[in-house]
Amino acid sequence: MFISDINILNKEEIVTEMRNADIEKRNYFEFKHKLASGEIRNVEVYSGPIELENHHLLYSIIHDTTAKKIAEVKLEQAKEEADLANRAKSEFLANMSHEIRTPMNAVIGFSDILASEITDKKQKGHLNSIQTAGKSLLTLINDILDLSKIEAGKLDIQYEPINPQIIFTELQQIFSLKMAEKHLEFVVSTDENLPNALYLDETRLRQILLNLIGNSVKFTDSGSIHLCATKEAYTTHDCIDLILAVEDTGIGIQADQQKLIFESFKQQDGQSTRKYGGTGLGLAITKRLVEMMNGQITGISIPGEGSRFEITLRKVKIADTVPNLKIKHVFEANNITFEKARILVVDDVDSNRNLIVEYLTPVNLEVICAENGQKALLFAKEYQPNLILMDLKMPEMDGYEVTKRLKEDPNTSDIPVIALTASIMFHDDNDIKLHHFDGYLFKPVIISLLFKQLSKYLKYSENIKVDDEPCLEEKFSWDNVTNILVLQNIIIQEVIPLLEEANMGIEQETIDKLATKLNVLGKEHNVSIFIDYSKLLQEYIQMFDIINMLELLKKLSEELELLRMKTK
Ligand code: ADP
Repeated sequence: MFISDINILNKEEIVTEMRNADIEKRNYFEFKHKLASGEIRNVEVYSGPIELENHHLLYSIIHDTTAKKIAEVKLEQAKEEADLANRAKSEFLANMSHEIRTPMNAVIGFSDILASEITDKKQKGHLNSIQTAGKSLLTLINDILDLSKIEAGKLDIQYEPINPQIIFTELQQIFSLKMAEKHLEFVVSTDENLPNALYLDETRLRQILLNLIGNSVKFTDSGSIHLCATKEAYTTHDCIDLILAVEDTGIGIQADQQKLIFESFKQQDGQSTRKYGGTGLGLAITKRLVEMMNGQITGISIPGEGSRFEITLRKVKIADTVPNLKIKHVFEANNITFEKARILVVDDVDSNRNLIVEYLTPVNLEVICAENGQKALLFAKEYQPNLILMDLKMPEMDGYEVTKRLKEDPNTSDIPVIALTASIMFHDDNDIKLHHFDGYLFKPVIISLLFKQLSKYLKYSENIKVDDEPCLEEKFSWDNVTNILVLQNIIIQEVIPLLEEANMGIEQETIDKLATKLNVLGKEHNVSIFIDYSKLLQEYIQMFDIINMLELLKKLSEELELLRMKTK
């Protein structure tokens, strides 16, 4: 019997295979063998030379791998099916998000408008419930979308130099009210050698810490919450391991649940949904984000005593330059007026169009509406609007097609087109340019972001200066000030100590006092800029906008110092 009697290859083919194996220095083959019954089986063959009674022979050990092969093929098929199902899930989520976000646009937008119109207490209460429910529904959708974006590999981590201390201070401020309400103590301790400029993704780091501290506050009824930041150095000196821990004295987590809670939609067994609410997605998102930032998260807990969640971000690069405090600017509906301009709103849904009309008419903009693509093309040509807001998903001709045609037509090609999108599939700047849009806005449209987009293309005026310039550009003018010596005394004795205290701790109470003091002094001594500062400070407190608040306090210190020098 020869090899070729059982191998399905012919003699020449077998010799070629063996030669190849010899060249590749391999003693291993995958063949198909015939059984006596004629059945073909997959086999693995290990062969080598052997000397037997002065004969050069070849030994072979043969394994039947048919079952293994069938299992491998099945596994591959199952993987393909799972990938297909996963893609279908992502598409479903994207579509669902669109379907839910579009009506939410109207629910949230119109309840915000109603809130400023109604005065009846009972009605205000009802409206409040709609607003709260609307916002929590949007949070849920956003959580689901975040997770599906991460799973679909559509979420990028964007590293830039940031000062982590600023985020810690911000968090302190954000949670100070909530913690005070629950009589909880919030302690933030940071390693004094922690570099003040690290390459991190600020938004994602904030999201992670908001989730962890938010949970701690939710699940702790008494005691304290501790945010601790430390580092481990590398010998190369240009990076560190950043260790962030959030520790609480709350209800804790049962031992058998401590791993489970990192999975999507998992909460502790028997936990009261009524009392704690939540979606069970926060930790799942947090874990993925941490892993994307080259880190890991662990949770340890003793039921009844408290929990500790610890994140280690590995090899975080140290930046050379300390990042500047960014001046964020918030456009306020009542703070901005556009020069007369015409906007074309293209959307097939009535309520969406009406909402934008409500937003834009009070700020001096004329709005024309088109409910489909054909009308949009016609109106754009005829009325020559200064800007077009374009819904993407419309029957017959969608927003992509309309925009393409507008940009192809020399009569309308210069008109900026802002896409209105409710879908996560359309979130990339390049993608936007590729489809000829000049910008995009997510639905539900947030009024300040809408104005910010419009302000790029339309002329406008507002009380506050925009972008990276300091918020208050006006110089102090002491010309109309009454009783400057008295004012100077008050400033030295009362305002400056308050200012120093405010600069040190950013305590809400101190800032409140400072704002009130400035307002009173401004009115008494005719210093209008004091009144402006007072208003701004109060606005920033409400928006937890610590960065702008710090900048404002700094500017105020400088101006007061100048005044002191002047009156010496
Ligand atoms: P959610 O808070 O929306 O329920 P998370 O994924 O953030 O979702 O948390 C999942 C679950 O883990 C919580 O419902 C809770 O059971 C448990 N958990 C998380 N953090 C804490 C904590 N600090 N103390 C006690 N339990 C916690």
